[in-house]
Amino acid sequence: MTITDQDDRLRVLRERAREWAEQLRPHAFELERDPDTVYRHLDLPAVDYVGKMLIPPRMQPNPMRIGDYEYYGTTAVERVVAAEEIASGDAGMFLASPGASLSGVLVGMLGDEAQQQWYFGRVRERPTWTFFALTEPARGSDAMALSTTLRKASDGSLTLHGEKRYVGNATRAQLGTVFARTGPGPLGVVAVLVETDAPGYQAEPLDTIGLRGAQISAIRFDGVPVDPGRVLGAHLPASARGMWSALRTFNLLRPGVAAIALGIARAAIEYARSNGERGRHREELDRLGHRVHTTRQLILRAAHEVDRDPRNGYLASAAKAQAAQLAEEATLQSLRMLGPGARFEHPWLDKLARDARGVEFMEGTRNVQRLNVCHALTKGRFDDD
Ligand SMILES: Cc1cc2nc3c(=O)[nH]c(=O)nc-3n(C[C@H](O)[C@H](O)[C@H](O)COP(=O)(O)OP(=O)(O)OC[C@H]3O[C@@H](n4cnc5c(N)ncnc54)[C@H](O)[C@@H]3O)c2cc1C
Repeated sequence: MTITDQDDRLRVLRERAREWAEQLRPHAFELERDPDTVYRHLDLPAVDYVGKMLIPPRMQPNPMRIGDYEYYGTTAVERVVAAEEIASGDAGMFLASPGASLSGVLVGMLGDEAQQQWYFGRVRERPTWTFFALTEPARGSDAMALSTTLRKASDGSLTLHGEKRYVGNATRAQLGTVFARTGPGPLGVVAVLVETDAPGYQAEPLDTIGLRGAQISAIRFDGVPVDPGRVLGAHLPASARGMWSALRTFNLLRPGVAAIALGIARAAIEYARSNGERGRHREELDRLGHRVHTTRQLILRAAHEVDRDPRNGYLASAAKAQAAQLAEEATLQSLRMLGPGARFEHPWLDKLARDARGVEFMEGTRNVQRLNVCHALTKGRFDDD
């Protein structure tokens, strides 16, 4: 099967998103210095589009419109096309933007109608930042070992206790989702909706050298009260909530993270082409350009696969691993091509190299993606073509 991105709807989006991306670059360093400057850029079309992404069509009367088409960002295929282009302008601004983001996928999957109306209604009514809190200190890749707890008192009231780490946008968010334990094992994990003005919620930004726009944060939950109506998936069997839902959420969004890495790689190659000595590194750049093309095909295919069946995340893992490696190599090779002082003389390329490192960790490192792929291979889950 060959999947191309020549479908007219996606072509129109790609072309427009490429224009939006150019408008991000002039603000990229300012956002690095002060991630709060995102508030000044809410009118930029890329930021507006990201803010509208993932709201289900039945709840979104005002989607992004380009020509005759409407875009809701509810398919992985649409998201990878937009993410590659926007990230080639500035991945930091993409991640700093308001919107439903990871939590939106989770609420769409697990929320009952009232929870979805509440969550997406909040995101739709004004620019709203959200967070998705799974990772814990010292338990990043081993998410199954999470120890944040949701405790039930004798009167039935619920409170959250514990810590999360490296959570994007947690200091500027108004609401988000938190994974917590109600008992041992994978079935003892639930996801709950939390508002950040609740008593006992504390978030502080972590200092990072890449993707600073994402403002990844540490969160403490000191007895945060949780309304029982905010526990996601209470109407579903336990096997359909908890860690199962986190894995599916990652499967659905991982092609988008791969596309962010691809956008960074492309930006580095384009920069090296226009700033290097004419022709000197042409072959090396052509080889990297070819890898951009093949990685894009893999990402699109992975996106089609998770849109078809969100349980099939193996191609998404392969795509994320390949794209993260390409981003790292494209940025570092481009720096090398531009000479020993390139990090100082070409701050844009230096920023791309730092951002590429950040993408390596988002939604699982290459090692963890390779373990997923290996698992699929040993179970015979890859098809032959
Ligand atoms: C920009 C950014 C945004 C993020 N956003 C969020 C967010 O919104 N919400 C959230 O919950 N988390 C978020 N994260 C956290 C991210 O999911 C974790 O960083 C990631 O899961 C890795 O965990 P860790 O950093 O604790 O590294 P560790 O798990 O400690 O890994 C350290 C090293 O050990 C290797 N390693 C670990 N386990 C294995 C293994 N089994 N086999 C081989 N090698 C292994 C890893 O590859 C890595 O090189 C974000 C991170 C970044 C950088």
